Amino acid sequence: MLTKQQILDWLQSVAVVLEQNKNYLTELDAAIGDADHGINMNRGFQKVITQLPGVADKDIGTILKTVSMTLISSVGGASGPLYGTLFLRASTAAAGKQELNNQDTIAFLEAAVDGVVQRGKANLGDKTMLDALSPAKNAFKQAVADGASTQEALQKAVAAAEEGVKNTIPLVAKKGRASYLGDRSIGHQDPGATSSYLILKTLLETIT
Ligand code: ADP
Ligand code: MG
Ligand code: MG
Repeated sequence: MLTKQQILDWLQSVAVVLEQNKNYLTELDAAIGDADHGINMNRGFQKVITQLPGVADKDIGTILKTVSMTLISSVGGASGPLYGTLFLRASTAAAGKQELNNQDTIAFLEAAVDGVVQRGKANLGDKTMLDALSPAKNAFKQAVADGASTQEALQKAVAAAEEGVKNTIPLVAKKGRASYLGDRSIGHQDPGATSSYLILKTLLETIT
């Protein structure tokens, strides 16, 4: 179970974690992109936390929709629309809800991943955020099917995301700016996969 308060706490903590990792994410993007991923994500989530007090008494869907709109209007680049779509789709799965049981959380994760796929048209292995998000969603689903608690299932999801991030290193980027480098993208960790992993890890830490 994830409560509305945990979702709000998570979003607050994401802003802190992305600020702490701003330089790290930007350095990753400097190697295969335009050195702004940490700056983009930090700007977006700093804006998000200014919007949260205005919707804290609303349902989780409304809160996530506000996150989406804020990211779309403030992040820019590739990641703004992609994370915006992720949270928009997740908000639909959480519409009207004050808490998310494990099935709701599966619906949330599936909607989020589907949104990123539809928006960005990336496949698994294209060296994008999807390489962290998709294995995480699958691991969460499998763990719940195996009878795991929310926390146990999230632990598996975060471990899968971390593995997914490491797996991006040898890949050739097929989408986004990094794809312009072709084979020269090999040997570098994808920044967007890394931010996705950090966001999921922050959810686990919030509920632990
Ligand atoms: P930009 O590349 O416009 O500067 P960012 O640096 O903020 O945007 O984000 C780059 C990240 O966006 C990449 O590391 C990658 O994970 C992700 N990304 C780029 N294009 C796509 C796509 N088509 N599908 C999924 N993720 C993508
Ligand atoms: Mg960039
Ligand atoms: Mg950019």
